[in-house]
Amino acid sequence: MPIEYSQMEEQPLMTSVFTPEDSTEGSLRPKFLSDYTGQEKAKGNLSVYIEAARQRNESLDHVLLYGPPGLGKTTLAGVIANEMGVNMRITSGPAIEKTGDLAALLTNLAPGDILFVDEIHRLNRAVEEILYPAMEDFAIDIIIGKGPSANSIRLDLPKFTLIGATTRAGQLSAPLRDRFGVSLRLELYTTEELQRIVTRSAAILGVEIDVDGAREIAARSRGTPRIANRMLRRVRDFAQIYHDGVITRRAADEALSRLEVDELGLDSTDRRMLMTIIRNYGGGPVGLETLAATVGEEAVTLEDVYEPYLMQLGFLTRTPRGRCVTRLAYEHLHIEFEGQLSL
Ligand code: ADP
Repeated sequence: MPIEYSQMEEQPLMTSVFTPEDSTEGSLRPKFLSDYTGQEKAKGNLSVYIEAARQRNESLDHVLLYGPPGLGKTTLAGVIANEMGVNMRITSGPAIEKTGDLAALLTNLAPGDILFVDEIHRLNRAVEEILYPAMEDFAIDIIIGKGPSANSIRLDLPKFTLIGATTRAGQLSAPLRDRFGVSLRLELYTTEELQRIVTRSAAILGVEIDVDGAREIAARSRGTPRIANRMLRRVRDFAQIYHDGVITRRAADEALSRLEVDELGLDSTDRRMLMTIIRNYGGGPVGLETLAATVGEEAVTLEDVYEPYLMQLGFLTRTPRGRCVTRLAYEHLHIEFEGQLSL
């Protein structure tokens, strides 16, 4: 899987780009359903499908995992592979440029193997079309030669499981979506779940943390395990220098305040986004592209990384005419609410 290493300067905690530090994510990833915290609904159904497939000695049906970045889609795919006792190959939509790339991946799979395709909504059309018969009939049609003498031959594939992950299920074409037997939506995590994750990660990293310290990080990591783990590493640095290495509530609060993460987990971009809608567009509605241009972020980043949490907090609403800020957000930012007809 191509890993985008971003520049070495300090990364915002919310970045959706894989940072060099995240390469230690591997050690923090749960391996089995029993240590995969939260997502009870998805886990409950999955365990039935896994058990049933195992009893029948069959490969698992194709699975689509969707939800915002950092919620554990890649991790869950790995968990499924471990539970099924099979190998997993990892790739991503944009990495498969040519139909030949996909054919090579598919023909190298062993029976029961899992092919994990991250960002599956970014597959190109030609590649996607090869995937249809592969998923449905476990076969691919390969064209040999060019022009009138071109020949199509059918290659049989081993029965494999495709696990697709996407932040935007809505962008998947209907034929692709329909070929997934199982479709699971991952939800933002509760503070209690994140607290368990932070405590577990701290134990793996050998960091001393107390209950309130873990809770403070959990409450400020906007429902997202990847952010919780990143915060844990940053807070550990501050705790080491200023608090004898122990993460207490005070140490966590101090560190996160210095990183400009407020008590609800909002960072400077969240605040800039809300303030822009309030100051420049009277609280909204404002179109996503216009907002992105004013805030100086990509529209997809705002939509995938920032909006889910702001909407969960009830600070932002999406209307057909654009984004609107709610009264709750005004209160959080200590700005007087002047009333909006559109809300
Ligand atoms: P996604 O593929 O959805 O972007 P990942 O699977 O890469 O997210 O998860 C990011 C990190 O968060 C992982 O390294 C893992 O340590 C942690 N994580 C995700 N989900 C869980 C979970 N349910 N329990 C514990 N840790 C998790």
